[in-house]
Order: sequence, then C-alpha cells, then structure tokens
Amino acid sequence: MEVFERLAISGLAIKNEDIQLQTILEKIKLKEINDILYGKTEKPFRKKEEALKFIFESPDIKHIVNKIFLSYQFYKLIPLNINYNKFKEVNEYFSEVAELIAHTYIMGGYAAQHKAQSKNLSRISGWKISPTDDGSICKFCQKMSKKSYPKNQYPKVPLHIGCRCGVFPKMK
Ligand SMILES: [Zn+2]
Repeated sequence: MEVFERLAISGLAIKNEDIQLQTILEKIKLKEINDILYGKTEKPFRKKEEALKFIFESPDIKHIVNKIFLSYQFYKLIPLNINYNKFKEVNEYFSEVAELIAHTYIMGGYAAQHKAQSKNLSRISGWKISPTDDGSICKFCQKMSKKSYPKNQYPKVPLHIGCRCGVFPKMK
C-alpha cells in the first residue's frame, strides 16, 4: 500500500476520486457494495448492475462515494510512456561509453606498469608517444606523438578517453 501511495505522490498512479467511478465500482464485489449501501435500501441488491444503477441514480451519490473511499483505497497505475527503441539505443550508447572508459583505464594501467618497469634502464634518453598505427589515430594524438619527452618526464597517457597511445623509450 505504501508503495502505491508513493507512486501516487510521484504522479505514476492516480488515487480514489481521480479514478473513474465506473472503474472503481466494477472492482468492488456486490457484497461490499451492499455493505456500503446498508440502511439506504430496503434489502441488499442481488445483482451488481442493479446496485450500480442505484448508486449512479442516487441524489446521494457523493456521500456514497465518500463512504466507499473511507473503506477502501484505490490506486490506478498510469501506463509508462517508454519508447523501447529509444531506451535500447540510449542503453547501447552508454554501454559503449562505459566500455571505452574501462578500456582507457586499462591503457593507463599498462602505461603505469611500463613506466615502473623502465625506471632502472640506464640506456634510455627520453620518451616518445606512439599512437596506434591503424589509420584511426586522432589529430591530437598525432601531434603529441611528434613531441619528445626528457627521461625524467614519462608522458601521461592515455591522452583522452578512448586513446590507445603507448609510450616507447628513446635509446642513447
Ligand atoms: Zn592517443
């Protein structure tokens, strides 16, 4: 019940008087309707249509409805307007981005490992960035790969999200 109340507050469900009375009355059992109408009729209705007809024609309909809502809480869920294809597209897009970021971190890990391993190599005079040579290198990485870095300044790679550049040493 609490869940439905929260849905109603957030606009994902409608409650009691906002729901069509016809819809509500269709959900209530004849016995329950008779309980609500107790004292208003000479004897209980034996057919639901008759009971509903009585309610809708009653000058006292507001009072009857109030009595229904005192005894019962009704919630009607509002259908979610989700464009499944759009949802799928967004999901795929963000999966791709997540993968790209994860891969960038891995490349960063490789670079850190390489930096640590090369620490004690005495023949190194400096560093250069080596872009992946598969024709998909970006202009920024191409530009950066032309630079030379001194021995004590291991270049920071990856240069951007999705960068696959590595670092190679310049030997003396
Ligand atoms: Zn790069």
